[in-house]
Amino acid sequence: MIKKPYLLSPGPTPVPPEVLQAGSRPLIHHRTSEFSEIFMEVTEALRYVFQTTQDVYTLTSSGSGAMEAAVVNILDPGDKALVLNAGKFGDRWSKICRTYGIAVREIKVPWGSDIPAAELAEQIDAHPDVQAVFSTLSETSTGTVYDIEGFARITAATEILLVVDGISGLGAMPCPMDHWGVDVLISGSQKSFMTPPGLAFIAFSPKAWRSVETSSLPRFYFDAQAAHNALHKQTSAWTPAISLIRQLREALKIMRGIGLEGLISHHRAMAEATRAGVQALGLDLLSQIPGNILTAVKTPHGLDGVRLVKLMQDRFKVHIAGAQDPHKGEFFRIGHLGFIGGFDIITALTALEMTLGEMGYTDFEQGGSLSAAQAIIKENWI
Ligand SMILES: *Cc1c(COP(=O)(O)O)cnc(C)c1O
Repeated sequence: MIKKPYLLSPGPTPVPPEVLQAGSRPLIHHRTSEFSEIFMEVTEALRYVFQTTQDVYTLTSSGSGAMEAAVVNILDPGDKALVLNAGKFGDRWSKICRTYGIAVREIKVPWGSDIPAAELAEQIDAHPDVQAVFSTLSETSTGTVYDIEGFARITAATEILLVVDGISGLGAMPCPMDHWGVDVLISGSQKSFMTPPGLAFIAFSPKAWRSVETSSLPRFYFDAQAAHNALHKQTSAWTPAISLIRQLREALKIMRGIGLEGLISHHRAMAEATRAGVQALGLDLLSQIPGNILTAVKTPHGLDGVRLVKLMQDRFKVHIAGAQDPHKGEFFRIGHLGFIGGFDIITALTALEMTLGEMGYTDFEQGGSLSAAQAIIKENWI
């Protein structure tokens, strides 16, 4: 049998053919007007996705590089930060801050749980001396989305900066930077931007820029001022990932063609179809507030979740993601962001049913997940 591979992980995500092709063109030099034109077109399109009039800087790094850039550009040694930690990536904010000697206070909740804006307000009232709040739009380790609009309403009334990790969420969930009052927004190429890994994006509000100008944490490669000065010469501070930027240009053309509203409703439909499918199998969702990006599903009782993911990959070449430490095996994650269509969801659910069957779990109606997902795909097929 010909066994085709399918990538349904929440990053990296599948890359459309025209985006792949753009990466194979003969290389051009980056200090040329030809590159500047591409770079400025990409920057403009990123502004659209970020919904900001500010500059968006493209960094050559994975998403975590932009997280580090956010920390080192706005804080001073000894500053205090409040981190909203509801999973692996919230936890990464704390780790980066501590690495730079920032005093971290956390609002820590169990994976998959909500963090109500009221709780943030309470913490800020009790500890008003924090310089920044670090949050996550879509916590990719659990599929949970957070109330960035509510958080921003609270920080906007203070001198505190709101930093948002939009690495998997931006482009699939609403997060209008200027309108909501987000101070630092970051994202990365390999999630909803349907581009290979290796680029990260960051933008600062005018309020955040005031901190950038005075902050004294050590930084060189990720210096926002250097990125700013270079962008005003229509280029990047260091040698950019030229091929990836060309690929991103094609991906952004697709994204603009669909439009933000269209992208968000598409991702919502993919998420609803996936949730309906797994629930039809009698499986439970991990998250209290699952978003459009991925669906985290609790491993059925008595099954080995690590084996489930591996079996689906080895036997059927369908690549979903497992749960990360310290919850390995407890649940699995089906990614449905970026270049994913309704029939990819059908593929994932088919593979899930077959894998569960192989593992001896047959406590469901065969094909049940497919009918449930089909109904939603059909409803949204416009
Ligand atoms: C993927 C991801 C990251 C980490 O990005 P890398 O590209 O792996 O460095 C951080 N935050 C969130 C929410 C993510 O989804």
